[in-house]
Amino acid sequence: MATTAATNTPPLIDATKALEQEHVLQSYGRYNLMLERGKGCYVYDPENNRYLDFITGIGVNALGHSHPRLVKVMRDQMGKLIHCSNLYYQHYQGPLAARLAEISGLDRVFFANSGTESVELALKIAKAYGRKQSPDKYEIIALHNSFGGRTLGAVSITGQAKYREPYEPLIPGVKFIDANDVAALEAAVSEKTCAIFFEPILGEGGIVEISRDFARKARELADNFDALLVFDEIQCGLGRAGSYFAFQLWNRPTEEDPEPVDIHPDVLTAAKPLAGGLPLGVVICNEKAAAMITPGTHGSTFGGGPLATRAALEFLDVMDELLPMIKEHGAYFTRRLGELAMKHDLVVAPRGKGLMIGLELKQPGAWVVPAAQAKGLLLNCTAGNIVRFLPPYIIERRHIDQAIAILDDVFTAGPPPK
Ligand SMILES: *Cc1c(COP(=O)(O)O)cnc(C)c1O
Repeated sequence: MATTAATNTPPLIDATKALEQEHVLQSYGRYNLMLERGKGCYVYDPENNRYLDFITGIGVNALGHSHPRLVKVMRDQMGKLIHCSNLYYQHYQGPLAARLAEISGLDRVFFANSGTESVELALKIAKAYGRKQSPDKYEIIALHNSFGGRTLGAVSITGQAKYREPYEPLIPGVKFIDANDVAALEAAVSEKTCAIFFEPILGEGGIVEISRDFARKARELADNFDALLVFDEIQCGLGRAGSYFAFQLWNRPTEEDPEPVDIHPDVLTAAKPLAGGLPLGVVICNEKAAAMITPGTHGSTFGGGPLATRAALEFLDVMDELLPMIKEHGAYFTRRLGELAMKHDLVVAPRGKGLMIGLELKQPGAWVVPAAQAKGLLLNCTAGNIVRFLPPYIIERRHIDQAIAILDDVFTAGPPPK
């Protein structure tokens, strides 16, 4: 796939790396690749090598790159009004809020600029909700291996020691339990609990699906103890799992469990794909949670500006049309990954929903990333041994077949010698 054009000049990436190493905070270990442009399911480096993008900027470029409908509305809006602050009304925030309320079954929306910021507001709402009842009602239940973002509040509910320890003490009263451990959940929740907080499908934690039983128990306990149930759908929401929001999948009757259920959050966070690559995060909540925010208690200069909100309305329209394909392509990709698992000893099995897919390996999987990249496929590795795919919603079977062929080669070659 990747064929380097014959050239005598050193690759641009070398100069860029040197400059960054001197002047950029060294918070990221970047992959050895520089990107210059993208079109559809592909991105290109400065030497014009092409890569099939199955990680989409961590689930952000969900409509692929340079989607004509997104480019059109963004171009038009940039020539009209990019920003006006929340001091004024503009055309798009109201309709976007109404649309998000409609597809989530909730009532009100706050607009932030990132996933982390949405998590911060969800935490403020949870704490205010508890405190209104009692000063002792401040405990939050969160999951081991979860990810909430990088601010102090968000790392407080992030169940990964490496993200938390340097900044302790953090927000007090956070209790971590294992995902899907219903008994631990029951034991952890009490009168002191103000919120139960989790991702319906853990992303950074390795594509771990929360069971319907766990979610149902969480809803029941939140009701019994008057705590808020918060779902972080920053990665798994907005079409990624093959439904508007991943939590909605629990409410569909299944063969084993045909009894109808209504598992819904009080507060829902979303972000990554929402504005087609522009920064936009949202907190969507019911009236009970929304009542915690009164004039002056929260705000954002950039949040919900006309460019990002208009792009988001267009994103949602396109996403709507793609939902059936997300399910179909997700099922096809998972089936093809299952074939790889049968063929290669080092592959355990695929897992996930829609186009949020992890492939579990029997060994650490970091080596897969550069090996696939060298053959023209971008993906990443989380939780040590889970190869993660967040492909664009616009993929077709031929893209999946291409990815499978590359992965087959990568697994046949195996990890590089130490
Ligand atoms: C990415 C992510 C966040 C943080 O979002 P940012 O936009 O990076 O701040 C929070 N929660 C989950 C589940 C995420 O995947």
